[in-house]
Amino acid sequence: MIAASLHNVTRMYGAGAAAVPALCDVSVEIGANRFTVLRGPSGSGKTTMLNLFGGIDRATSGRVIVAGQALDSLQDRTLSDFRARHIGFVFQSFNLIPVLSAYENVEYPLALLGGPKAKRRADVLALLDAVGVAQHAHRLPGELSGGQQQRVAIARALVTRPALVLADEPTANLDSATGTAIISLMRTMQRERATSFIFSSHDPQLVASADDVVDIRDGRLVSVERMTESEVPQ
Ligand code: ADP
Ligand code: MG
Repeated sequence: MIAASLHNVTRMYGAGAAAVPALCDVSVEIGANRFTVLRGPSGSGKTTMLNLFGGIDRATSGRVIVAGQALDSLQDRTLSDFRARHIGFVFQSFNLIPVLSAYENVEYPLALLGGPKAKRRADVLALLDAVGVAQHAHRLPGELSGGQQQRVAIARALVTRPALVLADEPTANLDSATGTAIISLMRTMQRERATSFIFSSHDPQLVASADDVVDIRDGRLVSVERMTESEVPQ
């Protein structure tokens, strides 16, 4: 099973003679229910690739498919709706809304989708508990440590039960012990909720927890290593 794929995708930045490809003719398949690390030095195109999978950015050419849907064929409004329903994001700088409590930050993407408030409340509380910050539900992001903020961000990314979670260097702003705990939490949540994770990192240590490692360099795919057997026949 495939969670997402790129088919001959190129993303150019700049115009005319100054145009440079951030990604150049990349084709890759990301397995469903797998924990995939996107690895490459700074400037290799990791963020560009995650933004394409997330429908935050569009390919200059080629096709991007997520959960069976070709993103290129969607209008902007339909694309943001697809994103809200099917994709979760975790960022390097946490990106929580500073004036909302931890609880409200996690509830926010669910509130956008509508649905009964009581069900929302149960989902939000269960997730805050699962990521270990239930006791801080009423706090603002500024009253939480970096690791606690990232835990809230993980809950926010998962609360809509997305098919795909994208995490762009989620441990880059954390000390190494906290980073290790966050990776392990994401690993646990990925398994428990049977979702697909792609996270970018240039930290070789983090690769150890991956099912699959996608290596890119200078905007080109270098290799895809399947580190573990797939539990689901492909
Ligand atoms: P990584 O996340 O691996 O560090 P990026 O995807 O951010 O790499 O960048 C890949 C390449 O694309 C880099 O050379 C970068 O300078 C370039 N790039 C990324 N975003 C832009 C942009 N908005 N405008 C111009 N160039 C960009
Ligand atoms: Mg980046």
